This record gives sequence, structure tokens and C-alpha cells, in this order.
Amino acid sequence: MDKRSTQTKVKVVVRLRPCLSTSEKTFVSVVGNKVQILNHRNIEENLQYEFNTVFDENSSQAEVFSTSVEPMLEKVLQGQNVSVFAYGPTGAGKTHTMLGMTSDPGIIPRVIQSLFEAIEEKQASALNGNSNQAPQFKVTFSYMEIYNEKVHDLLVSGHQDLPIREDASKNIFVADLSEKSIDKYETFMNHFEPAASNRTVAATKLNKYSSRSHTILLLKILRREPDGKEMRGKLYLIDLAGSEDNRRTGNKGIRLKESGAINKSLFVLGEVVDAINQNQPRIPYRNSKLTRLLQDSIGGGCHAVMITNIAPEERFYYDTYCTLNFATKSKKI
Ligand code: ADP
Ligand code: MG
Repeated sequence: MDKRSTQTKVKVVVRLRPCLSTSEKTFVSVVGNKVQILNHRNIEENLQYEFNTVFDENSSQAEVFSTSVEPMLEKVLQGQNVSVFAYGPTGAGKTHTMLGMTSDPGIIPRVIQSLFEAIEEKQASALNGNSNQAPQFKVTFSYMEIYNEKVHDLLVSGHQDLPIREDASKNIFVADLSEKSIDKYETFMNHFEPAASNRTVAATKLNKYSSRSHTILLLKILRREPDGKEMRGKLYLIDLAGSEDNRRTGNKGIRLKESGAINKSLFVLGEVVDAINQNQPRIPYRNSKLTRLLQDSIGGGCHAVMITNIAPEERFYYDTYCTLNFATKSKKI
């Protein structure tokens, strides 16, 4: 078979968050699987964008999870690699979508909960009174960020610049990245919450920094069948840097090298997603740290979804416009 035809497309979905202010006008509406943006100043007439899935402002965290993420968890448990990333300008709801709050949990806590439920179920149904028949699972997680093309481990303190490597079987990994073993939801939260809240505090102090870094949670699942057969799946859950820096790359990256302010990884991610979705023979994974890291987890036979977050208030007009154009390009056949 032609190798190119084995590329699994990256799904692109859109989520519009509710308007957060009563005093501001909105310009975005969702009708079915279309997003409309209303005529505004001198940009263009009313615009309409169509996607496979659009979550409107009333969509719940549960809905986003069960539609866009949950179906892929089974793949991870079967040893496949999966990535989920939230794209969009700062303030559009990426962190809400990926992490959420205790009272309204997002994708990360829901994934952890479901994973352990699925594992328990598999073991229970395999068991049938014979403990030798059940598959064994080992789950670990790592938590890192990429800022300014440098990988930092968020489970240890201090500044680092960890190298990304490839092993003999073409698995990509970050050298010296810490890993925590987890056996249930609570163990995960015990390790993850302090690291995540440290980040949140740092983020509010230094918004510019947080909006320019990609926050990456990696879950690794090792499954060992009773006959000794092993399967290894990886799941990346990524809260991307704010896409607002990317507006200037609209004209094809001429200025890409000009300023450190432009987020190279985000720009390259767009190119990688386009190349995968258009079945191009060469995917430019190596052009950024983020895409290099994801090389074994998007495209090929892997499953990936990009959740594109947009905001409805007028001050987000240009960001929303650029974000929808990026997403439309990225979902092109
Ligand atoms: P980002 O991470 O993209 O910068 P946030 O997730 O921090 O954006 O969202 C910005 C604000 O909007 C936060 O106050 C968040 O609680 C709120 N918000 C985002 N999405 C939703 C939603 N679907 N429903 C309600 N509030 C939301
Ligand atoms: Mg955020």
C-alpha cells in the first residue's frame, strides 16, 4: 500500500465559549456545524466556516469530552498513540477545555477517570474468576512545557532545556523527563494538582510567558496480556500557546525568523497538520520542538484532534477570524 494513504487525518473541531461580559457586543454564532462571523468594520462580509463538529456556547465539558476525546481512549489502551490539543487565542477557553475547574472538570480529569474505569472494566471482564487471564496495565504520566523552543519538566523545579530523542524503533522521547506511576485518579491528582497550580500562579504573574508556552501532559500506558504480549500507547493532552502571536504568520512565515515573539512551534504545527490532512509525502515534523515531539503521535496511523477555541466578544474579532482561517486550512481534505 502507498505509505501516504496510511496517514490518519487530524480532526479539527471548534468550540465557541459563552460571552463573559454583558456590556460587550458579540459577533459569532453557531448554526449546526457552521460558524458565522458577522460583518465587522472593513474586513469582509459575513463569513461562514464549516466543520465536522462545532460546539456552541452552551456545550458542556461532558459533551466535548464524549464526542471528541472519549472514542480515542480505546486506541491508547490498544497500544496506539493519540494527541488532543487545544488551539486558539489567549482567553478563548483552551485551559477551560483541557483542564477546567473542580466544579466543571475538563478533558484531563475526565480522561484520567475514564482510563482507569476502562482498565478496571477490561480486567473484570477478562477475569471471569481467573486472575491469570487479566491483562495488566501500567500507567505513567509526565508533565512538561515548551517555551521558546526549550522543553522544561514541570514535575521538577528549576530551568532546563531537555533534548528530544528518537530510539531505534522510531519512538520519540524527551531525555531525562520525569515520570510518575499512577494507579488511580487520586494518585494522579496528588502529583498533578500541585504542578498545575504552580503553573497557574506563575501564569497570572507573567501572562506573556504563559500564553507563549505549550503545556503538555503525556500519559503512557503499557498493557501486558496474559500471554506476555505487550502494547504501549501514548496520549498527549496539550494546551497550546495562544494563537494571537500567529496573526503575523498569516502571510506565510516571512517574518518567522524575524522575531522571537512569534511562536514557531504553533506555525509549524499548522504546516504539519495541513501536510498530514492533504496527504503530502513530506511532513515537516523536524521544524519545531513541539512537532518533533509529536512525530510519533500525529499523522501515520495515530489519532489526533485539534479543538479550536474561539471567543465571541468584539475585541476578539481579529483573533477569531485568524483562528477560523487557520482551522479551516487545517481541516482541508
Ligand atoms: P485560554 O486558556 O484560552 O487563555 P481560559 O480557558 O483561561 O482561556 O478561558 C478564559 C476565561 O473564559 C476563563 O475565565 C474561563 O473560565 C472562561 N471560559 C472559557 N471557556 C468557557 C466555557 N465554555 N464556559 C464558561 N466559561 C468559560
Ligand atoms: Mg490558558
